Amino acid sequence: MDMTGTEFDSAPGTGFSQARLKREMLNLSASQVWDTARTEWELSTVLEGWQDCLCGHYPIKELCLLVNTETGSFATVGNCCVRRFVQLPSNLVFQAIKRVRRDITRSLNTAAVSLAHRNQWINDWELKFYQNVMRRRDLSHKQRAKKAQINRAVLAAVSRNSAPPPRRNAAAQLDDPRGILQ
Ligand SMILES: [Zn+2]
Repeated sequence: MDMTGTEFDSAPGTGFSQARLKREMLNLSASQVWDTARTEWELSTVLEGWQDCLCGHYPIKELCLLVNTETGSFATVGNCCVRRFVQLPSNLVFQAIKRVRRDITRSLNTAAVSLAHRNQWINDWELKFYQNVMRRRDLSHKQRAKKAQINRAVLAAVSRNSAPPPRRNAAAQLDDPRGILQ
């Protein structure tokens, strides 16, 4: 769903506001200069569900939990806003997840595998194994099976991360990011 063109109108009813996203993220950042504050944020994990983006848009299905490395704050931001304004590789992660969900024999990409490892969805050995086989087509039966098993583990972890039923108050979610991770 590409909302290009309408997404950042802040006209009543659309819910999109780039200004609001930046204001809310600055509130949670150390720097008050957007171009600096933006670089304080890292992609903690991805979620699929129906929640508000910090920009106010609702509902968003592809969500990112961002963590600020300076303040420790968390923020839930839609993939589209992350891609456009925060410029973290969340869209690559979602592309990989969708590809593998359609066909379990396909490969995740580096962004998705790194995220899976950071979140301990896969261990060190699985990371190394995957990096070795992800661009190869001449896999043994065993290697193919192991790769598919890792793909399934990552898909299951993303599903576990799925956001609970929508709540209208995005600020309440920010107080306790664990609430959307458990
Ligand atoms: Zn947004």
